[in-house]
This record gives sequence, structure tokens and C-alpha cells, in this order.
Amino acid sequence: MDSGMISKIQKSKRYAEERHRIRFDEFKVTLEGDHATHLVSFQGGKWSCDCGFFARRGVCSHTMALERVLGEMLPLEKSRG
Ligand SMILES: [Zn+2]
Repeated sequence: MDSGMISKIQKSKRYAEERHRIRFDEFKVTLEGDHATHLVSFQGGKWSCDCGFFARRGVCSHTMALERVLGEMLPLEKSRG
């Protein structure tokens, strides 16, 4: 392997550990719940989920689970802490 590629791989490992460098701007995720599979999406700093709880409350176990997984990789202004 050439030295250029080796240095890129080393940099990628450092970037992967320094998660604050990464921001998810939008995505769609399928989450297998205990009773049903749900489609969760994040766009423009806003969550959505196809479950009934989210429709009533604007937050649900599915969006909260993804917040836990992604943590600091979500845009700071929408982080719930
Ligand atoms: Zn949900």
C-alpha cells in the first residue's frame, strides 16, 4: 500500500474517534420495535416517526433511542441533552 493511502487510513481512524466532527443533517432509519417496525426520519433538525405516540407527543421511544445512539453527531441546537 502506498504511503498516501496509509496516511488517509490513519486520518480516517482519528476522525471516526472524534465524533464531534460528524453531523447528521438528514437520514431515514428503520427501527424494529417490540411490536412493529417504525420508520424514523430526521430532516432540517426535526424528527418524525410513523408511530402513534410521536403523532400525539412529538417525541417517542424510537426518536429518543436514535438520539442516544447518535449523541453529539446530531446538530447541537436540536440536541435534547
Ligand atoms: Zn416512534
